[in-house]
Amino acid sequence: MQAQDGDPWVSVSLLGECTFCVRAGRFQHEQSQEDTGEEQIEPPRRGWFRPPFSVAEIELEMGKLRPKAATLALATLVTTVLALFVCIFGVAAAVLFVFTVRAGLALLALGNLLRDARAAASPEPDPGARQPQPVSWWSLLQNGFQPHRYEDPLSDESWRVTGKPWRILQRGSVRIPVFRKRNEDERLYRQHFARIAAYAHLLERSEGATVPYGVVLLGSSYCGLAVPVDPPSKKQFHDALILARTVIKGGPHQPPPHNPSMCRSCVWGKPMTEDNGSSYQSPCGERYDWVPPHEKAIRKGLV
Ligand code: SF4
Repeated sequence: MQAQDGDPWVSVSLLGECTFCVRAGRFQHEQSQEDTGEEQIEPPRRGWFRPPFSVAEIELEMGKLRPKAATLALATLVTTVLALFVCIFGVAAAVLFVFTVRAGLALLALGNLLRDARAAASPEPDPGARQPQPVSWWSLLQNGFQPHRYEDPLSDESWRVTGKPWRILQRGSVRIPVFRKRNEDERLYRQHFARIAAYAHLLERSEGATVPYGVVLLGSSYCGLAVPVDPPSKKQFHDALILARTVIKGGPHQPPPHNPSMCRSCVWGKPMTEDNGSSYQSPCGERYDWVPPHEKAIRKGLV
């Protein structure tokens, strides 16, 4: 795996993408996207707060929300009284009432989350397990792991690999890299095993840490799977690294995937739509002169 002269640097996200599809890997390489440890950017705000991932974050969100809710409640009360004299205030009171209820519900949701976070007490994943095991984010925290978010990516000069997990859970000399999957589908693919083993390698090399497993969190939920760092997942990582180097050196034209069903939800295969509603070709379609069977292309009868 030692990099030779002329071997490029490979990010963990790139090797994951190449394992998914070499064409997708090539697009990713050309866009020089940094590894963020997740399959999508931060999830959109859910109503009044971003999903918190520690007790401190929950308490912070509650601290921000309480004065807003109190102000809204007070404004609702004042406008309701004014509406007794001037009808137009009735509309304002109704709108403010809706916002007050929403703020109250958000506070309630955060309170429930705080209770769940404090009560979680599942056993830890078995570090010797050979298969992925279900795991709860809160139970890992309850078992003494501290979540960290690194500013800078980890890197290994000798293999020319770099990457940044979404979070790193730390307890003593043990580190658990955490990767976030786009959705809550529990199926894991080769790229997930390769990614976890790559992060484990980087943590072992940079920090001399012990990494028995990594965690793949499912979408925006607090559930995930503990993925063993064992010889099969390391092999996935090594194969992916070699493949990524080949893709980078191989230029823009890459072979099609063995299984075109992978195109169904691939961002590079999604047909772009003009303002007037007519469909354009996708980036992958334009470059390789075909219509990838993306679900939108199928829906529109383009393929
Ligand atoms: S659309 Fe299909 S062939 Fe093109 S990059 Fe995506 S998965 Fe690969």
